[in-house]
Amino acid sequence: MIVVDRAPLASPLNLRVSRPLFMHIIYLDESGTHDARHFVLAGLAVFERDTYFLAQQLDQLQRQYFPGHSRPINLHASELGASDETAKPPYDELPAKRRLELLRDVYPIIAQSRSRLFGIVIEKSTVPSNPYERAFEQVVSRFDQMLGRFFSQGDQQRGLIVVAESSYKENLELLARQIAEQGHSWGETHNLADIPYFASAGSTRLLQLADFVSNAIYRRYERGDARAFDVIMPRFDQEGGRIHGLVHLTANRSNCYCPACLSRRTQN
Ligand SMILES: [Zn+2]
Repeated sequence: MIVVDRAPLASPLNLRVSRPLFMHIIYLDESGTHDARHFVLAGLAVFERDTYFLAQQLDQLQRQYFPGHSRPINLHASELGASDETAKPPYDELPAKRRLELLRDVYPIIAQSRSRLFGIVIEKSTVPSNPYERAFEQVVSRFDQMLGRFFSQGDQQRGLIVVAESSYKENLELLARQIAEQGHSWGETHNLADIPYFASAGSTRLLQLADFVSNAIYRRYERGDARAFDVIMPRFDQEGGRIHGLVHLTANRSNCYCPACLSRRTQN
């Protein structure tokens, strides 16, 4: 396992070029894996030097809300939104109102960062196969395209993918290796430095932030609760008014007025 929010990763390509290459790291987590209409794979792409500062801000929030805990608590959006009856330790040390305040305090950190967000929302009934694989290919493709745009603007950066461990891990490891070596369904990848890594959310604050992004998108599409989504919406990867970072795969895209569908219709 790599600890990515404590020290910048060394670029494996540094040896091949005269000028050092820098790394963009995308952290991904999922929502809606069980009994839900939507599946979401989402997260944030962060310049390697910014990971430390984002992690520090979550550390500060923990000190503010859990002053008695010196060891890192794995901050998890759905746990913070749980009722008093279902809240688990250590979250049950806070009343529900304080837990929701902590949940709300995380989103401005994301909104005020320099990260770029990516989210793939899949209406499960529209895909015959595993939605995770479809979403994973989409997000890898879009992350690669973002790095390609940076490259065309003279800013050569490589990308690294870090995925929260999940029940899909075994299937995804094979898919991840295929994507790294051969590309994805829509073509080759050009800007990735290595195969994706899998890590537990407890090991890095950045995967915890990916969980908050994924949860905000899930609540927007599954439950119509856009409060957190609206705070982070401006940070989805976009260029010239077109939103590249948010994708909504639905049978009814022509009648959907979410930002992703609207952006595609108005730009076509
Ligand atoms: Zn839509």
